Amino acid sequence: MSDKKDEIKELKEKLLLQRKNGIRRVSAEELAKCDAFCEEYKRFMDAAKTEREANAVIIELAKKNGYKEYKSGMKLSAGDKIYRNNRGKAVILSVIGKAPISEGVRLCAAHIDSPRLDLKQNPVYEDTEMAYFKTHYYGGIKKYQWTAIPLSLHGVIIKADGSTVTVRIGEEESDPVFCVTDLLPHLAAEQMKKPLATGITGEQLNVLIGSRPFRDDESSEAVKLAVLNLLYEKYGVTESDFISAELEVVPAFKAKDIGFDRSMIGSYGHDDRVCAYTALAATMECEAPVHTVVTVLTDKEEIGSDGNTGLCSSYLKYFIYDIAEDLGSNGRAVLSASQCLSADVNAAFDPTFADVNEKNNCAYINRGVVITKYTGARGKSGTSDASAEFAGRVRRLLDKNDVVWQTGELGKVDAGGGGTVAAYIANLDVDTIDLGVPVLSMHAPFEIVSKLDTYMAYRAFKVFIMD
Ligand code: MN
Ligand code: MN
Repeated sequence: MSDKKDEIKELKEKLLLQRKNGIRRVSAEELAKCDAFCEEYKRFMDAAKTEREANAVIIELAKKNGYKEYKSGMKLSAGDKIYRNNRGKAVILSVIGKAPISEGVRLCAAHIDSPRLDLKQNPVYEDTEMAYFKTHYYGGIKKYQWTAIPLSLHGVIIKADGSTVTVRIGEEESDPVFCVTDLLPHLAAEQMKKPLATGITGEQLNVLIGSRPFRDDESSEAVKLAVLNLLYEKYGVTESDFISAELEVVPAFKAKDIGFDRSMIGSYGHDDRVCAYTALAATMECEAPVHTVVTVLTDKEEIGSDGNTGLCSSYLKYFIYDIAEDLGSNGRAVLSASQCLSADVNAAFDPTFADVNEKNNCAYINRGVVITKYTGARGKSGTSDASAEFAGRVRRLLDKNDVVWQTGELGKVDAGGGGTVAAYIANLDVDTIDLGVPVLSMHAPFEIVSKLDTYMAYRAFKVFIMD
């Protein structure tokens, strides 16, 4: 009888797809490493809330690790570590490999922009003796989620004289914060009847920034004037300087452990800095790889990847062409031989909203890094559908190195969908597959990931770039 039982157990292990919780599949030591890794991740998240801040933190870390700014025509040799800063909003890191670059590069691509509220170009106004910023949201948000939470202001202002003011207000304990107000339930009968999509509209996402007028001035707009006066005293900026500014309003809270067991992390902007950080950490530990490693941490993914800091532009291609030439090869050949992990988050199954997912083909918290063969929507449109061969290669690599992974599609067929940068890289003739961390409450001001999945993403990038 027990022989029969053992046989069936064996057969199950051999024939069925294993979908065990990753926590049961790693040692206590590895779990301790995972938790320590995530402490560093939380620090990164608090320091790098926008693409510009992430860019600066990444380049600072790269320099500490011996990376030099790359200039086209540089003499390059195996082991060299270089970076290219794309306008302070995107960055490419590279470690030159021992093999000829014509054998292709190992590419990791993640994005460092996240959904948020951007200030309009003429943002300051006063209404009923209160001062506000007008905003235009960036990326796909549920607008109602951005009301009644503490917000901070980040970005740059280019003044009339050409000088730059860097802004970061609302992150220090002593800083003030800002807020989008919402209607009290007592008077919200009409609002509450509206669908969630229109309960709060884009033009209602106004950020409250002040309420004290000049005391000895009776003129109109005295609150706005008083706020502008504070900004002038602190930064030397005037109202017209906002026209040449990029100011981003993001949640003011910090990354925190979630749960009694501290197994998860809540933070603004896991999408996609959880993949950016894990790819960065793997790259920073990369010494003397066989194949040249190229890690691109890009901007503008959340609004479609257009613009010169997004991956629809040619900046990645130009970089690869440039280093190929410096290493005596040609860019076209290098791209065709390259392989890429397009590193972006995926939706984690949420039992509270179970019906949007198909249970056999979605990602789960704690089941490891998720491989997504295709994204897209409505009949796979707009996706790079990775080849079975490349999916097979990545799967073998992860299994060989005991990286806990799962497969997952973003939602039920025709339930919605989404895209990543995978298609733009694959369109350069690069073998590309999506790989990333499952997220709960994606695109909300406070998103949730599991520590184990985060750590497994780091391990996946590491084995991929060292292979
Ligand atoms: Mn993303
Ligand atoms: Mn996103």
